[in-house]
Amino acid sequence: MILKIVQAGDPVLREPARELSRDEIADPAIQELIASMHETLRAAPGVGLAAPQVGAPIRLAIVEDLPEYTKEATAQQLAERERVPVPFHVIINPRLTIVDASPAEFFEGCLSLPGFTAITPRARKVRVECLDETGGQRVIEASGWYARILQHEIDHLNGKLYIDQMYRRTFMTLEDYAHDWKEKPVQEAKRILLK
Ligand code: ZN
Repeated sequence: MILKIVQAGDPVLREPARELSRDEIADPAIQELIASMHETLRAAPGVGLAAPQVGAPIRLAIVEDLPEYTKEATAQQLAERERVPVPFHVIINPRLTIVDASPAEFFEGCLSLPGFTAITPRARKVRVECLDETGGQRVIEASGWYARILQHEIDHLNGKLYIDQMYRRTFMTLEDYAHDWKEKPVQEAKRILLK
């Protein structure tokens, strides 16, 4: 079932979400929620979706970066974004540790603020300890774009949005981004817009 994605301004996006117990994770209702969130993410399309974005204030998010999402990108663009495909997976009750705090800067967007983007600094490398959809322990080491997705989704579980973190002077419509900046190095956009 495709779910309605909650938009910025809804209080559910600004409240810290609550942890799930192992019993709750095993409950068919959570398994159905995960399946519906996956369907919703594919339809959007997007690379991550947190449960508060579909109105559920629980510490659960999904990630999936399919190869087809980057088939139009050049090798240089993929290298700049440090972006490689990530298979579908679920993170529950995540604990995030910064491994390399040096900032990776790139344009970022959110399905709860459709049509906009801004350069958003993120830590380059993170470690996430969490449970998966079976209640099993997982440790994820991620860098580059994948680390960005994880930080973005875990922020959602803490009531934060990328607009809290972005360089505000780089906020723009996706249309203008595609027209003016997509083909240019991110540092050029930063140099011109942030002066
Ligand atoms: Zn988001």
